[in-house]
Amino acid sequence: MKHKIKIMITPSTDKPARHLKINTSVALTMLVALVIVNVSFLINTFYSKNVSDTLSHENTVLSENLMMTQDKIDRLEDINANKTDEIAKLKLSIKTSNDFLVDRLLEMEQTQKYVSQLVVLFNDETTSSVEMPISRSFNRLTQASETAAASDTSEIVIVSPDEKLLSEMDALIATDEISLIINEQSNAYKDLVDTLTKQISYLESRPDFYPTNGTFSSPFGYRSDPITGISTLHSGIDISNQVGTAIYAAGSGIVTYSGYDGNFGNVLIIDHGHGYETAYAHCKTLLYAPGDEVSKGEQVAIMGATGRTTGPHLHFEIRYNKTPINPLKIIQK
Ligand SMILES: [Zn+2]
Repeated sequence: MKHKIKIMITPSTDKPARHLKINTSVALTMLVALVIVNVSFLINTFYSKNVSDTLSHENTVLSENLMMTQDKIDRLEDINANKTDEIAKLKLSIKTSNDFLVDRLLEMEQTQKYVSQLVVLFNDETTSSVEMPISRSFNRLTQASETAAASDTSEIVIVSPDEKLLSEMDALIATDEISLIINEQSNAYKDLVDTLTKQISYLESRPDFYPTNGTFSSPFGYRSDPITGISTLHSGIDISNQVGTAIYAAGSGIVTYSGYDGNFGNVLIIDHGHGYETAYAHCKTLLYAPGDEVSKGEQVAIMGATGRTTGPHLHFEIRYNKTPINPLKIIQK
């Protein structure tokens, strides 16, 4: 007789319970099948959980990496922004410096032109040879900027921002050369001013001021002496006027003699430097003493008729390196 398992099914309603009779082997088989299904569910669940954990961990790592990368990008962007600011500031600084220097150089160029014109006038009037302040360095700079300007228009060169910045930095460094040029120019102007100051001093001392008012009564040179009739050198010019007429210094200088001297009567002698001396003879009164400084055009004596003379006049002499020369070659009326 086969073993049977009785299964009672109790419904939740008031219906009567049902009874199932199942063969033992069938029941065992079902039980085993149930166990197998459950175990495989368990294994599957466990495995899935492992996979899920692993994926979750990897996900976390990836998230962290992503955040770090984002941080790096942010920092790089910050650095880049700072560099861009620095570059912009440098460019502005370069431009400002450059504009300033160009303005100064243009001003200097204008001054140079003006001074050159003055020098030409000065040389023409004095037959001097003052050199003009032409700086080769300035020309060199002008040529360089012209070359640069020419190459700017003739060909388009594509440069990376870094190369552009570097070339601009080079230009900035080159401004050291501009400093040198400005120094050179300044020195040239200083020399010129020194020279011109000396020349002005020379012009002030040069005895070219007409020394009195009156009638031109006797020239420089050999003539028949008005008293003896013998041909002798008249070592100056005579200008006649009334006693009391003002006599002026022909140039600035220092009085070296002031007193009575035989034929000359009361005579004043002024040393003008540069080899020039002037003498003012037959004066009534002398207004300065030896050692006094006098200016060109300043009254230094009063006309008279002292010494060997036929009437009131000024005998005026210019001596160059102690030798009398024709005053009309120097004085201007
Ligand atoms: Zn005379």
